[in-house]
Amino acid sequence: MTASFDTLAVHGGRRPDPGTGAILTPIFQSATYVQEAVGVHRGHTYSRASNPTVSALEAALGALEDAPPSVCFATGLAAETALFLALLRAGDHVVCSEVCYGGTVRLLDQLLRGLGVVPRFVDTTRPDAVAAALTPRTRLVFVETPANPTLALTDVAAVAAITRAAGVPLAVDNTFLTPALQRPLELGADICVYSTTKHIEGHNATVGGALTTRDDALLERLRFVRKSVGSIQAPFDAWLTLRGLKTLPLRLRRHSASALTIARWLEAHPRVERVLYPGLDSFPQAELARRQHRGHGGVLAFEVAGGAAAGVAVMNAVRLCALAESLGAVETLVTHPASMTHGDVPAEQRARCGIGDGLVRLSVGLEDPADLIGDLDRALAVGVEHEVAACAAR
Ligand SMILES: *Cc1c(COP(=O)(O)O)cnc(C)c1O
Repeated sequence: MTASFDTLAVHGGRRPDPGTGAILTPIFQSATYVQEAVGVHRGHTYSRASNPTVSALEAALGALEDAPPSVCFATGLAAETALFLALLRAGDHVVCSEVCYGGTVRLLDQLLRGLGVVPRFVDTTRPDAVAAALTPRTRLVFVETPANPTLALTDVAAVAAITRAAGVPLAVDNTFLTPALQRPLELGADICVYSTTKHIEGHNATVGGALTTRDDALLERLRFVRKSVGSIQAPFDAWLTLRGLKTLPLRLRRHSASALTIARWLEAHPRVERVLYPGLDSFPQAELARRQHRGHGGVLAFEVAGGAAAGVAVMNAVRLCALAESLGAVETLVTHPASMTHGDVPAEQRARCGIGDGLVRLSVGLEDPADLIGDLDRALAVGVEHEVAACAAR
């Protein structure tokens, strides 16, 4: 099919319900499926193995990346768990970006390590560091780009050349940009990982995850793991995600435009020391961002002058921006990575990777950016008052 991405987001992998003509795939809220005779069924037998609404979402997600149907899970971390269980055995090594979602670090470090898997967290912004970390026992390289929360980028094509030569599969957590803005499979990666909780469903209504790959044997293995551990997505969540998917490209264009406007405004603000957003000319990897992205997404991070106390004061002072974990939805969310999303990442690893205690992560939503700037301007002023009060107290 030669349809453009925007058209695929609305129609890809979907068709009207054959039984009724309903334009949307119905919510098949059913645990089991009546079989015509022993061994004769219409493709679904029990909803832990597969469900028609979930299958519709899987076909739609796969179509976005010119891949077979994806495999969908109850959460993004359930998707990662299935990937790790599908590919790793006791004694195997996995190389992972040292800057990445805190839950990924916790899963590898605090659960899989106990099962004998050896995680190695490396600076994947340097392809040579990935090459150096590979051992004969390495069975998976897992990178997140842009990475949570510093937006550090990994050059997917460069790392894919290394992993391909070594015969090791490369997985890319593409949650921040989604296929609308970045296509890891086209850049040589083997597996894309998604928390559909974020931009793909996009409305803070569900948690969910997905894996996309063109490797048929791996797809079969992933579905086997999912059935065995019982981590499939719920039909209603799949239905909501199918609905969110239709506006994904539209939303990401607006998220990206607003994030750039706000990043530039923050950069010019005297109280802001540093702004990290791949669309800024000042971004350390701006050239790679232009090469690898079709837009830079809605997430940025910044540091307020005055360190951790000033950053925390700003996060406590916002009113329109909600102080909450998560990202990628219509509401603007502000997060304190050091205590919230990355609280379980060892402090030493946080410090090494530039996740300072005063770092503020902003997921820019679909509100008018002028209103968001107004809220941040007021919150930054409160931060100043906080600091003046702290000085007076000393
Ligand atoms: C949120 C997130 C996850 C985990 O997804 P859940 O749906 O919360 O389980 C994984 N990777 C990234 C980059 C995320 O932002």
